[in-house]
Amino acid sequence: MSEPTPNSEIPHNRGRIDTRAVHAGQVSDERNGALMTPVYFNSTYEQDSPGVPRQGYEYSRTTNPTRTALELNLASLESAEWGLCFASGLAAIASLLHRCKAGDRVVAGNDLYGGTHRLFTRCYGQFGIEFEFVDSTDLAAVEAALAKGNVRYLHLESPTNPLLRLADIEACAKLAHAAGALCVVDNTFATPYLQRPLELGADLVVHSLTKYLGGHSDVVGGAILGRDPKVRGEIAYYQNAVGAQFGPMDAFLVMRGTKTLAVRMERHCSNALAVARHLEASDLVDRVIYPGLTSHPQHELAGRQMSGFGGMVSFELSGGVDAGVAFCNATEVFTLAESLGGVESLIEVPPIMTHAAIPAQERRAAGLQDGLVRLSVGIEHVDDLLDDIDRGLAAAAKTLAKASVRS
Ligand SMILES: *Cc1c(COP(=O)(O)O)cnc(C)c1O
Repeated sequence: MSEPTPNSEIPHNRGRIDTRAVHAGQVSDERNGALMTPVYFNSTYEQDSPGVPRQGYEYSRTTNPTRTALELNLASLESAEWGLCFASGLAAIASLLHRCKAGDRVVAGNDLYGGTHRLFTRCYGQFGIEFEFVDSTDLAAVEAALAKGNVRYLHLESPTNPLLRLADIEACAKLAHAAGALCVVDNTFATPYLQRPLELGADLVVHSLTKYLGGHSDVVGGAILGRDPKVRGEIAYYQNAVGAQFGPMDAFLVMRGTKTLAVRMERHCSNALAVARHLEASDLVDRVIYPGLTSHPQHELAGRQMSGFGGMVSFELSGGVDAGVAFCNATEVFTLAESLGGVESLIEVPPIMTHAAIPAQERRAAGLQDGLVRLSVGIEHVDDLLDDIDRGLAAAAKTLAKASVRS
């Protein structure tokens, strides 16, 4: 991927992405030289004259200086012109839908984060916005859904959760534009360090800052990044009007995370590849899903649109759900928990945990098998992670032995 033309309105927006992660949007305090952006615990700001705010800040539902520093930092990382931060990833995605009215359509991938699916169908569906879910790996299916007309957004995740399928972002963005729709990419799994959808032609990027950008499992937040100032104005209008705001302390915590994004992602990627290869070598594992493996059906596309393959690995144990549960109960470094993207390794069984709300038949039809286990591979020492995988495999083997004694 090419390096972007830097937006000169973002302070310290210079250098490569690792450097910008540390410096972009970060300005030391003019009065005392304090290096870190202060946490501005302010609801309101003094005005020089009625209706004349000193530096544009009037009320912290609208804007706050700590949040602004993070928004500039994130905009730099995603090669965007602007960023807006929200109370959560879902609040960010919801704010996009405020630009829609009854009868408008949204075409989305069918392998979406469950909360996004619920937000679309249960919350905004009841206001007459129509949602159609398609296999986003199938360009003909995407094109056919867009051709039905009146589509405001093509909403994609790449890689998806938990099956780590990829959408061809460049091709999808072209199809969206031909249909008069904006292409939105949820870039939570890849992060801008590994994939920058705006450079590939997408119009808007959304993030759950809760995951890799925060990076330490200690904050919930969301963001939208884009280039068109008119779209920014509309989203910011609804953001202020609706009020799903992001607090200054949370903005500070995410900024602390983004500064180390480059080094964390390098380690997430190398650890995940080692774990994926280790699992692939075991007889107890039917399938390992990781975009960095040559066995991944879209490995070539991953190499084209991503500069690394991320920290998420999914795999199917031949012993099904019993083996999956035994594996999770046996690991000591991988902690049994939902969520992802923190420095610590996590493990979960999607059919029972994050994706339990999807009816079993629908789940299996979408390719999500009962024995699927999902790993968020952290930044611990790789050998400790591989030893832990062996612990899990040994426990899974015992369930298989028991099952064969029974039968
Ligand atoms: C977690 C997640 C979200 C939702 O973000 P929250 O911060 O939990 O609201 C959206 N998309 C993806 C891909 C996620 O993993």
